[in-house]
Amino acid sequence: MRIQTDLNKLVFRNDQEVIEVFCKQKYKNYYVRGQIHKFSDNIYDKELEEGCAYGYYLVKIFFLANNDFFSSTTDESWYIKSEGKTINEYLKIKRDYAIKIAKKLEIKNPLSKIFSSYNSPMLIDIKDIDIQDDSFLKDSIINKKDAIPLSIDFELLNVKSSQNKKIISYPNRIYNLVAYHYADDNDHYESEVRAELNFYDLFYYDFDYEYGHPKEFISILTYIGNVASDWLKNKNVSEDMISALNDLSKNAIRNHPLYDFCYKFLDNLITDLKDNKKIGQCESCGKVFKYVKGKKYCSKDDGTNCGKKMRNKRFYQKHRDEILPKARKSTKDYRDYYKKIGVKK
Ligand SMILES: [Zn+2]
Repeated sequence: MRIQTDLNKLVFRNDQEVIEVFCKQKYKNYYVRGQIHKFSDNIYDKELEEGCAYGYYLVKIFFLANNDFFSSTTDESWYIKSEGKTINEYLKIKRDYAIKIAKKLEIKNPLSKIFSSYNSPMLIDIKDIDIQDDSFLKDSIINKKDAIPLSIDFELLNVKSSQNKKIISYPNRIYNLVAYHYADDNDHYESEVRAELNFYDLFYYDFDYEYGHPKEFISILTYIGNVASDWLKNKNVSEDMISALNDLSKNAIRNHPLYDFCYKFLDNLITDLKDNKKIGQCESCGKVFKYVKGKKYCSKDDGTNCGKKMRNKRFYQKHRDEILPKARKSTKDYRDYYKKIGVKK
């Protein structure tokens, strides 16, 4: 089995299976593990010629786990435990399994036959994933958690026409997922993808995660999903949408991997609306506003008026040389004055 090493060039032999990721180094005595899933989902977007298409996505999950995590066995335990801590363990497990199956089915040359239906595992360097040594991670290590989630990332691989299955060009949008599965006006609640997106359960049951509440998790995805759905259906940015985007950004929690995952859909929506020249974002405070050509800062109408603040700052920077010598001169004047009246300064 050829081992994959480049996270950006994944090869899926079998789309139904995950690619197991292992790391050459440990992180603070934890094994670094990951899984990459591939899945497809419907995309509904007014912009599409047929109104809908199929999107093919990757989801990359990384976490840390110790020996106790891998050795604890319950009937309900997530199968990642049975795939091993290290790449060598994984290869041995797969090999033993192949031999067992081959004996049962009396297949000749079992390893190459059975291995060819597996996705090759991946061996990465710790530098390939950017581990954020934040308070969540530090606290989890201090509290000796058996497993600590690091990150979840979605990526849109490509989009195919729902009629002729040809690849069509489409922007890098992942927020379709929350629009389709979480928005109040859609009713795909029972779908598999919605269940796959329910990382709260995964984290809670398999990763020893006890932060937040599933209702809160769902309400964040629903809120983002509603805004995204409104945009996908109407292609118009309303004042309500602008306030919702700012409200979401203001309350975004980024220092927990599960919440951070939710808000990545918001980041994606905001970037997309900016790319489409539907909104602008204040370079000072980060608030968004309806797109106006050349507008870099929010103004009085947006509530914060960074524009005025920045204009004052710019005035100072532009006239700095004129303002400063005057100030210096006045200090010199004072010094002369003090000298004159006999005060040493
Ligand atoms: Zn601003």
